Amino acid sequence: MARVLIIGAGGVSRVATKKCAMNNKVFTKIILASRTKSKCDMIAKEIFDELHVEIKTAQIDADNIDELIALIEGTKPDLVMNIALPYQDLTIMDACIECGVDYLDTANYEHPDTAKFEYKEQWARDEGFKKAGIMGLLGSGFDPGVTNVFCAYAQQYLFDEINYIDILDCNAGDHGYPFATNFNPEINLREVSANGRYWEKDENGKGRWIETKPLEIKMVWDYPEVGKKDSYLMYHEEMESLSKNIKGLKRIRFFMTFGQSYLTHMRCLENVGMLGIDEVEVDGVKVVPLHLLKELLPDPASLGAKTVGKTNIGCVIEGVKAGKRKKVYIYNVCDHQACYRETGAQAVSYTTGVPAMIGAKMILEGIWNGSGVFNMENFDAKPFMDELDKQGLPWKIMEME
Ligand code: NDP
Repeated sequence: MARVLIIGAGGVSRVATKKCAMNNKVFTKIILASRTKSKCDMIAKEIFDELHVEIKTAQIDADNIDELIALIEGTKPDLVMNIALPYQDLTIMDACIECGVDYLDTANYEHPDTAKFEYKEQWARDEGFKKAGIMGLLGSGFDPGVTNVFCAYAQQYLFDEINYIDILDCNAGDHGYPFATNFNPEINLREVSANGRYWEKDENGKGRWIETKPLEIKMVWDYPEVGKKDSYLMYHEEMESLSKNIKGLKRIRFFMTFGQSYLTHMRCLENVGMLGIDEVEVDGVKVVPLHLLKELLPDPASLGAKTVGKTNIGCVIEGVKAGKRKKVYIYNVCDHQACYRETGAQAVSYTTGVPAMIGAKMILEGIWNGSGVFNMENFDAKPFMDELDKQGLPWKIMEME
């Protein structure tokens, strides 16, 4: 039925590509391209050996728009799935506009030289997408992604008005290393060491962002199937779109769990300058400290076999239904080893790669459609929620009030 070009061959791509192959009635032709072609070949071989689905592979530098256009023209996909890094979002979006092909990604654009991510530049391409008559779906991972869909589902089916949202991201997995990150270390460490931020309406009803120091605000949350965990307030990109798209919202916050060992290592690395993104000269060679650290840390794609435990990611949503206060908690629990047995990847890659495939399926089946650039909450949440149940990410709703 459809041809898809997947860009990037890390942990998330490994899951997304396999899940596309498992849904090969929709994804009839899959092309996998990345900077290091051997990683694409390895994923393609694993999938062929197990599922007998053939994946074509290619080398691409996705920072180079001419290379991207040549690859898209040469492979003629119906959709490009960007599962490389956020740094490549704009070049791939521009190549899609040029070639008239739909686009999907899992993470908000970030400039390599500035540790700040926002939707401004991706939303600014809305006009270009409309003129080209194509669709761009932003942030089709878990958070952003499924968390946006949980909020949209609550708005569309459970509440008359939503006032408060807390997004809670818990990874209680143990990979056995003293220190490692569960997805790309550079993106992960830039995100965690940045100032926190949440959104609320002031007394005049005007929305404003409140900035906090990195990990300054902590609460303890009792996560179903996991237990009580320290959860720290952070900025996260889905709040930018949800604060605009959820009617009646008064406050939205995002919390993520971290163990003491992770935090101690991260603070130590930060204190000695290893999280820096400005070049330093070492023996006449220019080095970005964070790039060096990424090389030294375990590759997140290799953590699958060793990681045990569960993730629990969800949204606590409070508002009004039929004149009464109502509070629900919508969440998914994922087991690292079950994810590994199915896809060879741990749950953080799994919970991102599965929604990337589902978002692509929504576009290719025409269930979600339109011209322009969209966030996940802009569409009917129900068909996506139904697919989560079928594709390995079942969700639960707990009534809290
Ligand atoms: P990895 O670092 O494991 O993989 C990234 C891949 O992109 C690698 O194969 C890398 O190539 C490739 N790549 C990097 N630069 C380029 C380039 N210029 N041209 C072509 N390919 C390139 O990352 P993950 O798989 O962990 O994460 C993938 C994406 O998913 C990231 O954007 C991340 O932010 C996002 N994410 C989203 C989440 C969500 O819930 N929404 C959660 C977790 C991650 P090479 O192998 O040569 O390095």
